[in-house]
Amino acid sequence: MAILKLNNVYKRYDNASGSPFKKKVKNDFAVNNLSFECRDGEFLGILGPSGCGKSTTLRMIAGLEQITDGDIYIGDVRINNLLPKDRNIGLAFEDYALYPPLKIYDNLAFNLRAKHVPEAEIRESVERIAKLMKVDDLLDMKPLALSGGQKQRVNIARALVRKPGLLLLDEPLSHLDGKMRQQLRYEIKRMHHEIQCTTIIVTHDQMEAMSLADRIAIMDMGKLQQIGTPLEVYDDPVNVFVAGFIGEPPMNLMTSVIHRVDGGFVFTFEGSDLRIPVPVRYNEIVSDGMKVTLGVRPVDVLIARDDEPSGTPIPVAIYEDLGDERRISVRVGENLMNLTTADAIYYERGDLVSLKFNAEKTHLFDINTGERIRAPKK
Ligand code: ADP
Repeated sequence: MAILKLNNVYKRYDNASGSPFKKKVKNDFAVNNLSFECRDGEFLGILGPSGCGKSTTLRMIAGLEQITDGDIYIGDVRINNLLPKDRNIGLAFEDYALYPPLKIYDNLAFNLRAKHVPEAEIRESVERIAKLMKVDDLLDMKPLALSGGQKQRVNIARALVRKPGLLLLDEPLSHLDGKMRQQLRYEIKRMHHEIQCTTIIVTHDQMEAMSLADRIAIMDMGKLQQIGTPLEVYDDPVNVFVAGFIGEPPMNLMTSVIHRVDGGFVFTFEGSDLRIPVPVRYNEIVSDGMKVTLGVRPVDVLIARDDEPSGTPIPVAIYEDLGDERRISVRVGENLMNLTTADAIYYERGDLVSLKFNAEKTHLFDINTGERIRAPKK
């Protein structure tokens, strides 16, 4: 069942009063015709670069921002005009916004006290959630004494104490350093497994979205680009934007002209002798002279063994040994093509390598629109 539904939602900020944003958004929509559903118990990620409309979306769901057009439903109820406090939503922002003079216990109890919940019930709730978020040993402390990771755990605990039907997390990890980030990511995942609270996380970090979310909604310039499981958006990106945004190191996206050769087609690249056979599944949709964007992930660019058929050898431009993997870049015309491998192979700059490609994992994109060009289904 969908617990949350956005139908053709738009947001245009009214900047008539000379806001600093005036120039930037002009007549554009910060959120442009956004529709998606979030299922009961699901962990949904909203992912995209800074300024793409993620926080605006979250704020509209929470009721902190007016919707310009469209509808938002929680269950069967249209909530467009419902006050934030009546939406049964828990919110944790990037900023912790804890009350400094109050102990952590009182910070967690604050909203329940405002609702005149009986003190015994508050204690039960605070202690249960504090244990869940592993802040139960901090209840007598004040916010100033806490580390960034501890504050964010309290922040999330405070949102959960209200027993929300929907938990919204806006960049909860972005203030934290590497190790703390990973730890809290794990805690958030464990919390979700334990209480199965429908959760939406907004993040610009694809690793965070990939590791936490059941499905990811990827946005760019106010528009939804794709929604799917981490594997779907990684393996089957619908356009160049998604292909380049998901994956680290990013997918190689190279402009190529396809040429007919004996028995098939090859990808060619300006300023380079590199030729890559076009996988036969594309034969019906490509033609001699067709210009495309070729997408291939670094793990799918392979180094051919000496006894394997391969194209012209090309020199290594950059070689990096990261211990558990090696990253190699070769120059293809003006651009670098990157490959990663777990194999223990060692090169120096200038060494020649012959490349081959995992044909099943090559993607074609329309050179003008950036949309995926799919091979016909057999
Ligand atoms: P994200 O969360 O993806 O970084 P936002 O939702 O914060 O993006 O912003 C989307 C767009 O709306 C941006 O162009 C931003 O400058 C603009 N914007 C955000 N908040 C306001 C505001 N209060 N007034 C005017 N424009 C805003």
